[in-house]
Amino acid sequence: MKLSENIKNLKGIGEKTSALFGKVGVFSLWDLMLYVPRDFVRYPELSKISEIKVGQTVAVAVTVQTEPTLAKAPRLTILSAKAADDTGTIRMVWFNMPYMKKTVIPGLTRVFYGKVGLYRNQPVLEHPKMFGKEEYDKLKNVLEPVYPLTKGLGTDRIKKTVQQVFDICFPIKDYLPESDVKKIGLMGLSEALQTVHSPAEEEIMKKARKRLAFDEYLAFLISVREMKEENLNAVNDFPIGESGGARKIIEKLPYKLTNAQMNTYCDIVNDMSGKRAMNRLVQGDVGSGKTIVALLAMVCAVENGYQAAMMAPTEVLAAQHAAKIKAMLEEYEIPIKTVLLSGSLTAKEKREAKAEIASGEAGIVVGTQALIQEGVEFKNLALVVTDEQHRFGVKQRETLAEKSAAQSGKSSTPHVLVMSATPIPRTLAIILYGDLDISVMNELPNARLPIKNCVVGPEFRKKAYEFIEKETAAGHQAYVICPQVEESEVTESENVIDYTEKLKGIFGSRVRVEMLHGKMKPKEKNKIMERFAAHEIDVLVSTTVIEVGVDVPNSTVMMIENAEKFGLAQLHQIRGRVGRGSAQGYCIFLNTSKNKEDNKRLKILNESNDGFKIASEDLKLRGPGDFFGIRQSGLMNFRIADVYNDADMLKAASEYVKVISDDTKKALNELAAMDSHANQVTL
Ligand code: ADP
Ligand code: MG
Repeated sequence: MKLSENIKNLKGIGEKTSALFGKVGVFSLWDLMLYVPRDFVRYPELSKISEIKVGQTVAVAVTVQTEPTLAKAPRLTILSAKAADDTGTIRMVWFNMPYMKKTVIPGLTRVFYGKVGLYRNQPVLEHPKMFGKEEYDKLKNVLEPVYPLTKGLGTDRIKKTVQQVFDICFPIKDYLPESDVKKIGLMGLSEALQTVHSPAEEEIMKKARKRLAFDEYLAFLISVREMKEENLNAVNDFPIGESGGARKIIEKLPYKLTNAQMNTYCDIVNDMSGKRAMNRLVQGDVGSGKTIVALLAMVCAVENGYQAAMMAPTEVLAAQHAAKIKAMLEEYEIPIKTVLLSGSLTAKEKREAKAEIASGEAGIVVGTQALIQEGVEFKNLALVVTDEQHRFGVKQRETLAEKSAAQSGKSSTPHVLVMSATPIPRTLAIILYGDLDISVMNELPNARLPIKNCVVGPEFRKKAYEFIEKETAAGHQAYVICPQVEESEVTESENVIDYTEKLKGIFGSRVRVEMLHGKMKPKEKNKIMERFAAHEIDVLVSTTVIEVGVDVPNSTVMMIENAEKFGLAQLHQIRGRVGRGSAQGYCIFLNTSKNKEDNKRLKILNESNDGFKIASEDLKLRGPGDFFGIRQSGLMNFRIADVYNDADMLKAASEYVKVISDDTKKALNELAAMDSHANQVTL
């Protein structure tokens, strides 16, 4: 069987299971090979019942004491049985697994593994898995993969399916010549794939992941080279000069543009009026004021008779951009119609928006990626701005060219402006954005007070709440960030839903607390964000959906729970949501880890408000290869590679791409063609 085959063709995989795999982006066998575990667990040593505590995940060797009982509630059955070792007894419960009644019989001695929870106020072993003693001893010696799951698709199923592919397709031929594999110091491809799914130990696994990161970078850099070539050939079909409206905005703004903003704006106007289509990256730290620069560019485009589109990574950010742009154009009496196209619109609203875009009535169009993916036709799209997200891959560029072509009938590439706050060292930026011209905005508007930071332990929570209350009483607003949406069986960290309830309880009617997270409907999310912006909400408890771009200058406090779970670059992005106005901003990093390294890492944030510096310090401290638990940020949409952790592989790939042979390139492209992720997602 070939790796390009659909997963459906495997024995035992029906429509339903393949649909579930599809949900997590796995279509081909090759996709499955690249669907690598996000973590590994080690099974713990056996515990005695007398030692176990609620909240722990434990394994106990026990004997079932009583005939199990089955309780029924609507849509729920609870099977419960008592078990004992020589130190005590514990109840075990299984939800919705009535058939276990036949297995769990009195006298049965097994190792039971699961989380200790509370049921009717008694400690119970929830949903334990069952093993023979010898079987468990063996398991203890390997790393058990934790795959990113979706409802209905469990680890066991994924493991089995992966094994099936190993059995059929291995070994996989390496596209790299063996001599190059050796020279670069990589693991062979086949070995790397096998290792990454079932490593014997961590060191080996890291090496395997490195290999896959190298491949990912290499494929990426090849397309960067192609794009660069295309850029050099792309003639400017949409000549755009500076316009009166843009000048009017600059004059009327309540602040003076910084030099960095002014220089960037000049770069953009030079590009758009020049011989070739613009492909420019604006790299500027959070709060450096990128949005206004983008708006000026868009106003120029529209006043030169074209349309401009701005794409944001989240609905929340798109809605906010649209609202701000509308308000500003109205205030400065610039007659340009701005339209928001987002998933939260009703079908009718969407239709109307699309009609206005197609007729050209809409000058500025703001939306998410759906803008280019859905069937949106523009009359004459000449400028595309992407905010806080990735540049376009080859495919997206083709789509864009088609979309901008409707009127002229010929396919032309619009000007592209990429706005990013990704704080990466310049050497890496030049590699990753090799196809783009770069404007760096390394200057913050000078009205800003630097954010005051503190890294504290859980004992500080009470004080933090008091501080938040004080700030809100003074008319300011606050964010609290939790790593999770809801309580989870797997990890123990704060979650938005319970935390919101908790804060409501603590603050009572004095402080208006609401929540925001990725599982809410787009419409609800926008509503909450609008209300927060309108100051109808004082404290917003949120996941990292607010990480990028959101701008509510009245917020002064940012409190981040389980800060140790985030990468520094991401924390810096999150922190950038406060201190955007003239009032003093505060950021409280709540560190619940007892690990000294974590504290040291977080302290870097304490000492610096400079994103570029933070990212490189983080890199130094962690050293390459330390990737688990934390992905620095989702800003570069790589599957395995991480810009910070795998900087060594990025450099290696950037050297190799200069000498790669045509045959090797062809073989790599064949692999990439089977990779649904690479084909669907913007890099
Ligand atoms: P980012 O670069 O993070 O996207 P924004 O464009 O959202 O930053 O700008 C952050 C805030 O700073 C906004 O409220 C904006 O109005 C304000 N701002 C932008 N430029 C200046 C400036 N030159 N002086 C003062 N405030 C500015
Ligand atoms: Mg922004």
